[in-house]
Amino acid sequence: MGKPTGFLEIGREDRTYEKVAERVGNYREFVKPFAEGDAKAQGSRCMDCGIPFCHNGCPVNNLIPDWNHLVFKGRWREALNVLHSTNNFPEFTGRICPAPCEAACTLNINDDAVTIKSIECSIIDRGWTEGWIQPEFPPRKTGKKIAVVGSGPAGMSAAQQLARTGHAVTLFEKDDRIGGLLRYGIPDFKMEKHLIDRRIKQMEAEGVQFKPNSHIGADIKVEQLLKDFDAVILTGGAQAPRDLPVPGRDLKGIHFAMDFLSQNNKRVAGDSIPADTALTAKDKHVIVIGGGDTGSDCIGTSIRHGAASITQLEIMPRPPEQENKPLVWPYWPLKFRTSSSQAEGCSRDFAVGTKSFGGNAQGHVTSQKVVRLEGGKEVLGSEFELKADLVLLAMGFVHPIHEGLLNNLGVKLDARGNVQADTTKYQTSIPKVFAAGDMRRGQSLVVWAIREGRQAARAVDEYLMCTTDLPR
Ligand SMILES: Cc1cc2nc3c(=O)[nH]c(=O)nc-3n(C[C@H](O)[C@H](O)[C@H](O)COP(=O)(O)OP(=O)(O)OC[C@H]3O[C@@H](n4cnc5c(N)ncnc54)[C@H](O)[C@@H]3O)c2cc1C
Ligand code: SF4
Repeated sequence: MGKPTGFLEIGREDRTYEKVAERVGNYREFVKPFAEGDAKAQGSRCMDCGIPFCHNGCPVNNLIPDWNHLVFKGRWREALNVLHSTNNFPEFTGRICPAPCEAACTLNINDDAVTIKSIECSIIDRGWTEGWIQPEFPPRKTGKKIAVVGSGPAGMSAAQQLARTGHAVTLFEKDDRIGGLLRYGIPDFKMEKHLIDRRIKQMEAEGVQFKPNSHIGADIKVEQLLKDFDAVILTGGAQAPRDLPVPGRDLKGIHFAMDFLSQNNKRVAGDSIPADTALTAKDKHVIVIGGGDTGSDCIGTSIRHGAASITQLEIMPRPPEQENKPLVWPYWPLKFRTSSSQAEGCSRDFAVGTKSFGGNAQGHVTSQKVVRLEGGKEVLGSEFELKADLVLLAMGFVHPIHEGLLNNLGVKLDARGNVQADTTKYQTSIPKVFAAGDMRRGQSLVVWAIREGRQAARAVDEYLMCTTDLPR
């Protein structure tokens, strides 16, 4: 504990954002990094609790009080080593993690948690700037070959862990670029993509072979992987979107959120999008259905396109302004939150369900009929209509895509349609095939994907070598 009285003397301060008017004109990140002094001062607020609840709040069990102390003391390089000991990619989580650690911080009992996520980001960004982050080579090669299918955070962390322990790892990705939802889901204004490219370079130097444009179960038979590799890890994400099968759903202008978001990320990356498939919110009345992260990303992107109006609809009732802390701490609380994208300008409505969509003679959506809900039931006579030129369905994902890879493999699924595997061995029903991340646990968070990738790597190493030094 750097400063025993820190939390009594210093209030919580967090990173600030560029002004809305400035940031919505581009796709750059807009969170202003902490100055060194800010990170130190905020680190000194950590009480180094006897039982640090933040450890368990964080899915990768980051050793938070340890690096808070080291940052306060100015021992940045040691802080970086401690941070990397539990998290392969803190520059991702330091930007886009919802920070369940802060909900679990003991100081949060009276509403002023340590700014853990911002300190994490300061440590890792400094590590890169100073040139401290270099490829890490294994002491020896094992001669074992491992295929990882899917290059999101689960696949990337599993691949890095396994390469660093001496295995020959090939990471297959069906998209043209590596990164999964980090690359083609999360917009650049939340996380710029050069951060992924930098890690890819490091991992290539460590021996990971990246194979983009390689769709396993389509371009490459999964049987081939089973023949060529000693183990296969499935990290293909949960890509089957939840649909809204109401009258008018097939009208033009109604799209899954991911079609809109991934196309925009490609556009920002410099790809040219053919005019007949281009999706734009410019001058349109946009309805976003779904109140989560994906919905927020659709809002931020639509604002940057120049939408005429944006309305976000949520089927659940509006949550309370404040949680009942004694009841929910240290768990993630349900409370009313406003994301940075929502703050950029949209109207939000809660407890509303969609009845149908209406269209014009050209078969394009023009309106959406909605109804108010109470206790999950329609309120009689509450129907109303919204103007809609572009409707984005952001209601989450039901499970992984079954067609192709999973069906061909014949792997057992759980009751929700995810790949069945436990969190000790990560072993599926097929010998030498493992699963991790959203493909195993269902749609989740980047930090959970990193945790599962790391743990699956350990399980695979143990399976192949009968012993392992990789951390859980
Ligand atoms: C729009 C959006 C915004 C989000 N924002 C956040 C956020 O701010 N913070 C947060 O923590 N989480 C966020 N999430 C959730 C987070 O992105 C995911 O939980 C996480 O990326 C899951 O990681 P993963 O590695 O399991 O799978 P994914 O990231 O989904 O990666 C899976 C990869 O596997 C590839 N693949 C699938 N099948 C095959 C195959 N047969 N052959 C080859 N490749 C294949 C896919 O193309 C994909 O690239 C968001 C999700 C979405 C959709
Ligand atoms: S990874 Fe997420 S939960 Fe863990 S310390 Fe960082 S911000 Fe907190």
